[in-house]
Amino acid sequence: MARAAPATARVLLAASFSGMVFGFLEDGHEFQESYGSSDGSQENDAFLLDEEEEAGDQEEEDKRFWEKQHQLLQATLYRTSSLETRIRSLTREAVKEIQRSETECGCRKPMASGCRSCLMREVSGRLSNAGYNSAMCKSKWRSSPDIPSGEHSFLDVVNNSSLKKGEVRVIIELNFRDEFEMARASNEYNDLVQKLPEVFVGKVERLQSLIKILCSAAKKCMKEKKMHMGPWRKQKYMQAKWLGPCKRTTSTPLLAVGDSARLRPKPKESMLTVDLLEMVHNRHCMTVVQVV
Ligand SMILES: [Zn+2]
Repeated sequence: MARAAPATARVLLAASFSGMVFGFLEDGHEFQESYGSSDGSQENDAFLLDEEEEAGDQEEEDKRFWEKQHQLLQATLYRTSSLETRIRSLTREAVKEIQRSETECGCRKPMASGCRSCLMREVSGRLSNAGYNSAMCKSKWRSSPDIPSGEHSFLDVVNNSSLKKGEVRVIIELNFRDEFEMARASNEYNDLVQKLPEVFVGKVERLQSLIKILCSAAKKCMKEKKMHMGPWRKQKYMQAKWLGPCKRTTSTPLLAVGDSARLRPKPKESMLTVDLLEMVHNRHCMTVVQVV
């Protein structure tokens, strides 16, 4: 369908974004109120070592822990649906092709190495061209007692084609491994991270499992090294990046806009219909439509 490049107007469809952020924040405040008096925060846990434990028992237990994380990770990465497989190969192909062609983006930077947002827009556009409802997603969250504020950009595909399965949302993160790498981490943790794909394409529940595995591994690693774990390493923070409220923006790839794009009628109204439907299905995300 006709979706033309650079945006000159933005139509905001959905309850206000700030409202959603507040909803998210209030949960955090409740958390603070009910746990405010205790100092048993997760950070402090990292310093608490079971000194009574026999060293040998501890070693055994550590070994078992890391083995289990490896098994869980393997099992999670191994499972995949045909939808995920199709989107994954399209995404990886697109990234490879952009890297090979040394495409320059609108900002005159090499897209593959220098400009993450243009690379994401291009990949998302190509997925749209292939018939998928793909968008750029931007999550943003305020600080709470547990985690500092932050924002993150990634891609997704929302699929409604299966009546049986209902709506399926597939998350695409082009720099997945980077997100979990830690300087001065233990070999066990590094081994685990090395097993992650650089380009992650998977359903929400799969991402959720991976975050859980990696964050408990990071916590264990820091505990073993008697180091403080940064709050941005916490499971809650990682979840906020990909699984919290986000703004979805759809666009067309820069390269695929040809002459035909200019001949197409302005898609404003039909896009609104499409995206309103999208919005109804998307509980977590609001949609921003770029209109020419
Ligand atoms: Zn750029």
